[in-house]
Amino acid sequence: MFLKSLALRGFKTFAESTELEFGAAARITAIVGPNGCGKSNLLDAVRWVLGEDNCRQLRVAALTDIIFAGTNRRKPLSLAEVGLLFDNSSDKLNLPFAEVGIRRRVFREGESEFFINKNLCRLKDIRDLLLDTGLGEGTYSIITQGQVDAVLSSKGEERRAVFEEAAGINKYKTRKLNAEKKLIAAEQNILRINDLKIEVGEQLLTLEEQARRAREYLELQKESKAIEIGLTKRQISGLLERKAKIEAELATARQAAHEQLATEQKDEAELIGLKERLRKKELEIDELLVKLDEEKDRQRDRELNRRFLEGELEREERRARELAGQKAELLKKIEELQTKADEGNSPHLSVGNCSPAVGEAVRSLFAQMKEAVALFSGIFSFFSEEAVFPHAEQKLNEAIQLKIDLLNEELKRLETESERVGFGLQAHRSQLHVYAPQAAGASQPAARPETIAARRAERDRLRQEIDGLEEKKRREDRDERSSEGRVTELEIALAKIEGEMTGLSEKLFNEYNLTLPEIDALPHTVANAAKARAELDEKKGRLRALEPVNLLAVEEFEKSRDRLSYIEAQLADLDSARDSLRALVSELDARAEQHFLRTMEQLSLVFSETFARLFSGGEAVVNLSADRPPLEAEIEISVRPPGRRWLPLSQLSGGERSLCAIAILFSLMKIRPSPFCFLDEVDAALDEANISRFTDMLKDFASTTQILVITHNKRTMAAADSIYGVTMEEPGVSKIISMKLTGAAA
Ligand code: ATP
Repeated sequence: MFLKSLALRGFKTFAESTELEFGAAARITAIVGPNGCGKSNLLDAVRWVLGEDNCRQLRVAALTDIIFAGTNRRKPLSLAEVGLLFDNSSDKLNLPFAEVGIRRRVFREGESEFFINKNLCRLKDIRDLLLDTGLGEGTYSIITQGQVDAVLSSKGEERRAVFEEAAGINKYKTRKLNAEKKLIAAEQNILRINDLKIEVGEQLLTLEEQARRAREYLELQKESKAIEIGLTKRQISGLLERKAKIEAELATARQAAHEQLATEQKDEAELIGLKERLRKKELEIDELLVKLDEEKDRQRDRELNRRFLEGELEREERRARELAGQKAELLKKIEELQTKADEGNSPHLSVGNCSPAVGEAVRSLFAQMKEAVALFSGIFSFFSEEAVFPHAEQKLNEAIQLKIDLLNEELKRLETESERVGFGLQAHRSQLHVYAPQAAGASQPAARPETIAARRAERDRLRQEIDGLEEKKRREDRDERSSEGRVTELEIALAKIEGEMTGLSEKLFNEYNLTLPEIDALPHTVANAAKARAELDEKKGRLRALEPVNLLAVEEFEKSRDRLSYIEAQLADLDSARDSLRALVSELDARAEQHFLRTMEQLSLVFSETFARLFSGGEAVVNLSADRPPLEAEIEISVRPPGRRWLPLSQLSGGERSLCAIAILFSLMKIRPSPFCFLDEVDAALDEANISRFTDMLKDFASTTQILVITHNKRTMAAADSIYGVTMEEPGVSKIISMKLTGAAA
């Protein structure tokens, strides 16, 4: 494996694309040029592409400072790119290619890109590829004056760092560091988890007691629940029995009430009928009474009529008798007058032997006759006075005749009157017959008292019947009320039972989230209710005594216990991890020490040989101070140039010391070979004699390692197979000039 080419673009002073090719035959290539032309920039480029990110090593303030910054004539560039192309025919690089190129690119924005054979990859991929090739970290592919100075440094750790790098213990150190970091983290975790364990353990103690109480509580609750369910079931069955009984009673009572109501309604209807009949009867009686009154009125009228008729009859009979008497008297008078007239005497009017009534009639008749005489006298006198007075006798006869006529007149009138009275009598008599109290054919009166009395009796019977029925109804009413009262009473009792059942059901649901059908399916029973209640009271008392209870404690305890187990397991894991890490650290220490010691041993041998060649004799030794463990010990380099005694390095001349340091670095490289070695002006401090030793050493090493050497020294240049000149024809911009010197020797 060897470096075939180095290509740069935009890297530091190499603004333009530049390529340095290294042939397989060119074992030593010298890079030459004036100060500041950019020779070391080539070394920086190689460092950078191999994965270096340390700004100090790259001699810049920031990584992006490696990009060409521009000159008076050129603008700054935006990216820098460096590529190395290796011959991999030896398959040293673990890739199935004869040539492997690695390339790195950075943009001014800071973004980096990496490539292996033009494939984009990570920096880590490049570092991994170079691992174990001698080009990786901590190898001696690049040797600068700084490293020479470090070997010569009076500071132990600076020097040791060089040897440790060579011993390859940096990887152990890195791994140890990682392991120690992990160990610290593990120990911190152990501490933290231990604290947690203590905390959880304390919690667990509290929770254990709480959980015990909670379990006891839950057990008591369970037992109480069983008893309560048993009791409830018992209560419910009792209630159901009572309910069934009451329901049966209620049905009977309702039936009875219903029947009573029907009877009452029937009686009511009957009562209404009776009352209607009574009303009618009373109406009938009233009507009869009215009729009776009317009959009475009629009777009274008849009586009055009858009496009136009887009076009339009496009066008429009396009149008839009077008239008959008067007639008889008149007839008598007429007879007498007739007699007188017949006798020629003036009739003398005498009424001395007449009845008073006849006398009166005669006197009245005389009076009327006088008036009639007077009237006739007047009439006669008017016609002829002589006719009256001269004829007085005649006149008297005539008067008698007149009187007879008058009497006859009167008689006639009497007879008319008698006839009229007779008619009246006859009429009144026939009328009286009609008004006779028991007149035959008189209509039978409608309202006879006995009829009324009979109706009244009927009415009274109806009233009695009504009273009886009303009394019966009152009784029935009482009975019905009592039946309804019983129904209500039973309904209330039923409602109470249902209320009790609802209460039990609600209590059951609230306390145990159970329904009645659900508890029915449960096997809990109670044989002795009183005993069960006592037991329940006792358990409830114990429950109350336990309160307050953290019911979550059981779960929390389980969780905490699991957590503690988990913590303990974690602790055990961490303990074992810590033990493993401690073991690893010890092992890494041991391996590092082993490597270090072996390297130091090898180095001591190689360096002694190299020294002897450089100085044409003599001896050299690299020792570790015995006062400290090897990895902390001082590295003591002692030399014994030919013919001289053992001297510490510090007692050699400046050039001799540099040469020794270079020899040590070369020896280290020999122990850990690298495909190429880039040396930057390590020969600067060497005089002619030492340069010659140095070039001999270069040639010696070139057989195994490709050498790139930046130098100002012509003898070193002369030792090279090829030379690249770096110039700055344009200020600030490096340019490469190839100066192939095949086989050239100074
Ligand atoms: P010497 O022989 O003195 O050691 P040299 O040839 O090794 O010198 P270098 O150290 O490689 O020179 O080059 C240093 C030069 O590179 C300096 O002039 C520095 O300004 C220049 N330089 C460094 N970084 C950049 C950059 N990013 N852009 C341009 N120039 C840069």
